[in-house]
Amino acid sequence: MAEQGKPKFAFFEGKIVPIEDAKISVMTHAFNYGTGVFGGLRGYWNDDENQLFVFRPHDHFERLTQSASLLRINVPHSVPQLVGILNELLRTEGFRENVYIRPLAYKSTEMIGVRLHDVDDEITMFAMPFGRYVEKEEGLHVGFSSWRRVDDNAIPARGKITGAYANSALIKSDAVLAGYDEALVLNEDGHLAEASAANLFIVRKGVVYTPPVESNVLEGIVRRSLITLMRDELGLDVVERNVDRTEVYIADEMIMCGTGVQVAAVTRVEHRAIGSGQMGPITRKVRDLFFDVVRGRVDKYREWLTPVYENVTAK
Ligand code: PMP
Repeated sequence: MAEQGKPKFAFFEGKIVPIEDAKISVMTHAFNYGTGVFGGLRGYWNDDENQLFVFRPHDHFERLTQSASLLRINVPHSVPQLVGILNELLRTEGFRENVYIRPLAYKSTEMIGVRLHDVDDEITMFAMPFGRYVEKEEGLHVGFSSWRRVDDNAIPARGKITGAYANSALIKSDAVLAGYDEALVLNEDGHLAEASAANLFIVRKGVVYTPPVESNVLEGIVRRSLITLMRDELGLDVVERNVDRTEVYIADEMIMCGTGVQVAAVTRVEHRAIGSGQMGPITRKVRDLFFDVVRGRVDKYREWLTPVYENVTAK
């Protein structure tokens, strides 16, 4: 599990407060019924520029707002306002290292009653120093989960809904306790969906395939970014289509991606090697490029980054 620090502050009930004061009640609706939606962003520290870059915050807050609307949660701030709140929070913390950011919009009324209407909403946000989410980013050993990914007609996987993460937690713990680093999850159709909290790509004969957005996956922001980088910078064919379980067994490479796992190589599935059993060349290229992009080293993709500090002078 990741090296993670502790937040000192949180945005809570409309202002930045010490983290000790950001508390909810045992009666809070979201705590009882899983009626919250959340995001997960990363900020990358660039030592040469003395700058903290947040990766695609506008896209993350747009998705948070969409997840909220699925649960009838009203977010009382626009996307640019949310980016502003985040920047203020990060400056208050004064981070000069890599961080993980967690915004959460939730049903806040202290009451009993399963419903979405006529319940109040709140939004909170905190951030903390953060390293890796999975230890072995260079070579993950995974197994197919016996759990299925939540279906769009049960709890939409396209929304990042707190209650749905019981599904992810079952998937993750059963995989880890069985000796794997992570799990591959099939949807109710039997096609590949995603990992417990990350999207997937496979490579076959130089072509990259990824499950489409209608296959019960989160519409991942790293997934979308890698599709752009692979097509536009590496000149690869990337095809969004259903992926069968057995295609994983015969794939040349497999990539797991997300804000937490970043860009990780999957090199073994159960008792089989994927390709050579080592990180493959396409995975390595796109992973290196991704880490350059998030640290602001590729001019063309600086627009994906929001700098936190103003008026910094490069060292
Ligand atoms: N799928 C699930 C279920 C997730 O929780 C995450 C992490 N947010 C992802 C995929 C990857 O999404 P993103 O690239 O936006 O972090």
